[in-house]
Amino acid sequence: MLALLSAYGALSAQPAAFVITNAVLVDGTGSPSRPGAVRVVDGKIGEVGTVKPGPSDRVVDAKGLVLAPGFIDPHNHSTDGLLTEPLAPTQISQGITTVVVGQDGSSPWPIGEYLAKLRSAPPALNVMTAVGHATVRQAVMGDDYKRPARAEEITRMEALVAQGMREGAVALSSGLEYEVGGYSNTEEVVALARVAGRADGFYISHIRDEADKSFEAMREVVAIGERAGLPVQNTHIKLGTVGVWRRAADALAILDAARARGLDVTADAYPYNAWSSTITVLIPSKRYDDPVDVAKGLADVGGAENILITRHAAHPDYEYKTLDAVAKSQGLTPVALFTQIVKDGGASVVCTSMVDEDIRAFYRWPWTMVSSDGGIGMRHPRGAGTFPRVLGRFVRERQWLTLEEAIRKMTSLPASRLKLADRGTLKPGAWADLVLFDPATVIDNSTFNDPFAPSSGIRSVWVNGTLVWDEPRPTGARPGVVISRQEQKP
Ligand SMILES: [Zn+2]
Repeated sequence: MLALLSAYGALSAQPAAFVITNAVLVDGTGSPSRPGAVRVVDGKIGEVGTVKPGPSDRVVDAKGLVLAPGFIDPHNHSTDGLLTEPLAPTQISQGITTVVVGQDGSSPWPIGEYLAKLRSAPPALNVMTAVGHATVRQAVMGDDYKRPARAEEITRMEALVAQGMREGAVALSSGLEYEVGGYSNTEEVVALARVAGRADGFYISHIRDEADKSFEAMREVVAIGERAGLPVQNTHIKLGTVGVWRRAADALAILDAARARGLDVTADAYPYNAWSSTITVLIPSKRYDDPVDVAKGLADVGGAENILITRHAAHPDYEYKTLDAVAKSQGLTPVALFTQIVKDGGASVVCTSMVDEDIRAFYRWPWTMVSSDGGIGMRHPRGAGTFPRVLGRFVRERQWLTLEEAIRKMTSLPASRLKLADRGTLKPGAWADLVLFDPATVIDNSTFNDPFAPSSGIRSVWVNGTLVWDEPRPTGARPGVVISRQEQKP
C-alpha cells in the first residue's frame, strides 16, 4: 500500500516533460518544413524550434522524420466504436488524434449522456460530436417521417438541436440523401441550422444528391448557410455519377462564388474513388422496385460490376462479391437482384463511381480538408487508410499536393473550422497532439477486400502529450478528452 502510494506520488510529482529532437517540423499552417525540435510539458507544447533539452527532460530522437500536429478527422463514424474499442488502433495508427462523430444526420442521443460515457471511459483520442438532423427528426416524428415536417414539429426539433448544442455538440449534421433526413425540405433544415449557428456551431451536410443533381444539392447547402447565417461544410464532396464526372470545376465555382459573397463554406473529402453506403442511395427516387429507376441507378455508377456488396444479413454469402457477379450466379438480372436485396432488408455496398480527376481538383481546392468518413469497424479501406493514403499516394507518388499543404488540410484547416484555438498547429501553448511519421514510406495498406489492414509509416502518435501509438501497436494509454463547444469558451 505504502509502496503504491509513494510510487504514485513520485510519478505525479515528476514533470511530464520530454523533447522530440532531430525532427523535420511541418507545423500545420502550410509554412515550409524546417528542422527542429519540440518540447512537451504537462501535455502541452512548451517550445518549438531550437530547443535545448533540460537535465530532467526525456529525449526522443526523431531521426529526421516529420513531426506534425495530430490529424483532425472532421467526418468520422466511430460513435459506437469509441465505447467498445477505446484504443481505436485503426484510427491512431493513421495519426488521427481528434475525431468528429455524429455525422450524416445521425448522432448519439442524448448528446450529454454519450459524452458523459466517453468522459468516464476515455478513448485514446479526442472526440467531438455533431447533433444529427435525422436523429432529432425521428425523435419528433417517430415513424411518420416520410413527409415534410409541420411548423409545430420543426419547433420541437429546434428545441432538441438547442439541447444537443447545449450538451456539447459543435455542429448540426445532416444526411439529406438518406431515408429520414431525405424527406425534409430546405425550410426545415434552415430553421434547425439557425439554432446551431446561434450556439456558435456550423452545419455539416451529406448533401441531398451526390449524383446527377449534385449541383442543385451544392446550391442548397450554400443557401442553407446564407439563410441561416452560419458556416457550412459540404462533407465528403464528390461527383458520383457518369453524368457529372469531370465537372469538379463547376462544383467549385458554386462554392467559390458563395465564398466571394461572404459565406464561410468549406468541404472535406476522402481519398478514394469508391463510396460506401447503403444500397438504397443508388436510387434517388426511392422507387426500389421500379425496374426503370433501378436500371438507371445502376448505369449511373458505371454498371453492376462497380457495386461491391459488403454486408447483407439475409445472404452473407453475397458479401465481398459484386452485384453483377451475384446476379449471374443466381440467374437474375442485376435489377431484379437489387430489388430483392432491398426487400430482404437492404445491404451495405462499396461503389466505385468517382474519377481521379475530380478527386484531385477537390483536394487542390484550398478549403477542402482531409476526412475519412471512416471510423472503427468501417468495412471500407478509408476506415484504416485515409490519412496515410493522402500522404503516400497523393503527396509522395502523384504529387498532387505538397506535404505542407496536405498536413494543413489535416490539421489547422479543420481546427479552424472547429474553432480549436489550441490544436492543429505546432505552437507553444497548444495541446501536444503530435504525429511522427516517415514521409518516404508512409502508406495505407487497407483494401476493399481487407479493409482493416493497418497503415504503415506512422511511427509515433501523442494525444495531449501522452504516447498512444508506438508502431506497430497502441501503447494502451487513453488520454483522449471530450471537446465540447462550451469548453472552448473561457
Ligand atoms: Zn455521408
